Amino acid sequence: MSLPREYSNLGFDPDALREKYQIERDKRLRDDANEQYVEVSGDFAHYVDDPYVEREERDPIDDEMNVVIIGGGFGGLMTGARFREAGIEDIHVIEAGGDFGGTWYWNRYPGAQCDIESYCYLPLLEELNYMPKEKYSYAPEIYEHSQRIAKEYDLYDGAIFQTKVTELHWLEDEARWLVKTDRDDTLRARFVVMSTGPLNRPKLPSIPGIDEFEGHTFHTSRWDYEYTDGDHSGGLTNLADKRVAVIGTGATTIQAVPFVGEHAKELFVFQRTPSSVDVRGNAPTDPKWAASLEPGWQRARRENFNDMVIGRPVAEDLVNDGWTEIFRTLASLIPRDADKAVSPEEAAALAEIADFKKMNGIRDRVDSLVTDSDTAEALKPWYRQFCKRPTFNDEYLPTFDRRNVTLVDTSETKGVERITKTGIETGGQHYDVDCIIFATGFEVGTSYTRRSGFEIHGQDGQTLSDYWADGLRTLHGFSSRGFPNCFQVGFSQNGFSVNLTSVLDDQAQHVAYLINEINARGAKYAQPTEEGEADWVSTIRQLAVANTAFFEACTPGYYNNEGDVSARRGLGAEAYAPGANAFNRLLKEWREEGSLDGLELT
Ligand code: NDP
Repeated sequence: MSLPREYSNLGFDPDALREKYQIERDKRLRDDANEQYVEVSGDFAHYVDDPYVEREERDPIDDEMNVVIIGGGFGGLMTGARFREAGIEDIHVIEAGGDFGGTWYWNRYPGAQCDIESYCYLPLLEELNYMPKEKYSYAPEIYEHSQRIAKEYDLYDGAIFQTKVTELHWLEDEARWLVKTDRDDTLRARFVVMSTGPLNRPKLPSIPGIDEFEGHTFHTSRWDYEYTDGDHSGGLTNLADKRVAVIGTGATTIQAVPFVGEHAKELFVFQRTPSSVDVRGNAPTDPKWAASLEPGWQRARRENFNDMVIGRPVAEDLVNDGWTEIFRTLASLIPRDADKAVSPEEAAALAEIADFKKMNGIRDRVDSLVTDSDTAEALKPWYRQFCKRPTFNDEYLPTFDRRNVTLVDTSETKGVERITKTGIETGGQHYDVDCIIFATGFEVGTSYTRRSGFEIHGQDGQTLSDYWADGLRTLHGFSSRGFPNCFQVGFSQNGFSVNLTSVLDDQAQHVAYLINEINARGAKYAQPTEEGEADWVSTIRQLAVANTAFFEACTPGYYNNEGDVSARRGLGAEAYAPGANAFNRLLKEWREEGSLDGLELT
């Protein structure tokens, strides 16, 4: 097949767009990459205090248990639920928050909503006979669903809330993990599951003067309703006499800013890189459609979505939204009468065209919703759609037509230049504000132990930080040599999907299988063999080449480790490139083969 004729008749110039993308990317690259952020500890530790519950005092627990799961978000919930189904007993979830929910426990900012279709995102819908109210669920419904899972699978029994793990030590003689916490607990567990989440630790930009500001500040993941008044649905009436700054324009800001703009006396949004903001397209769930679904529909839908978002052909795009549109366009670009299969180079060229088309639409949308042409120009994203997290919202862009709202473009200075006692100084101007809201996201590319907040000491005192100092080393993403019976769930060297909960569900089922096999085969513990781990790492890296090249050309952000792809620390940088469905097939074959190839049982 040769490239389609439309290539020369596109109505836009691909070379010019490519060049523009590169200029915009280069403008934002910073030498300090991930180091531009300051850890939320020490003087900044109050940014992660829990504003939702009072601390309850309790005595330390000194106990022996079968399974400790660290983290009560969807990773911990899915693991707990699938373990229960698999007959694994004596499960204890340790969670820093006051309840289950993870990201949906912490992120309660106004307008919070999940951009992934609810029928794919909310897990265990068939098992729990629950149907989401809308195509895209709002945060309270998702938070409630996490509690539904915990109740149905009896996970409150044994849950240890408001508790942070401080260290893990492997005790070889006992073949147990010693789990210590900030409540002075000493727990001995046979199995440990780490599900501390990919975006768990809020980060702050190390802008000079950040500690000098004398007004009010908070991070979006700990929304201060005491200061703003109102709740998730709005009503931020205390802001009526306040000048507010929001720093950052990622997915959180896109949802929260319409509410702040509606209520604040004045709002300044400090942007470095604009998000792509697509149509929301929400709708109530059609009861007739819901009643027509056949058993197994949720898995089929999730797999269909997983395939769509990595460009694998499917018979029908079931989700049919802004995430999948680019791949529908891609399919339409391939001529039906193609006389031979599309080569990888041709496919890549067509994918780029589909991307240009998509992003041209996103940029046109800005013009149609924002009146002031300079503001509209600054709000246009110049990069490929999946270089950054795409967003979907109908109120964000029109907010910039409000007279009380100002967009401050900080791209030329690679971000906000300075924070003063009274506000923000950047681009030669000073903005007096009463409050700064940091919508600056979460740590992704820092070390695993820094993000989880504790160190893991494995066999012979080896720490996981040291073991992973030069990059992840795992078998299938779940476990590492020297750290027996310790399993990670989440994004690691495994199948990636933007629908994280489906990935977590599949991982939970695999770990349940592993634990039952370790027991059934009479072993005390399991860990990867040296060879098994090395083979898997090399498989991951060989397959990652195309993805790495894609992200290298992207504007900086947490997807590409702030532009430094060589460190392989961006979200999904070490993923199994053929995708989540292919990864699941590989694991299924591995289980069916039955020898636990690459694992060593003791
Ligand atoms: P992000 O990491 O996406 O955004 C952080 C923002 O802060 C970026 O716009 C970044 O700019 C900006 N920033 C950082 N430092 C500076 C600086 N010095 N000066 C100016 N701006 C700065 O965080 P979010 O909380 O928005 O989102 C995190 C993730 O959480 C999302 O990507 C998504 O995966 C998930 N999420 C999902 C939602 C959903 O499903 N709807 C909703 C909310 C979050 P730059 O881009 O230039 O680095």
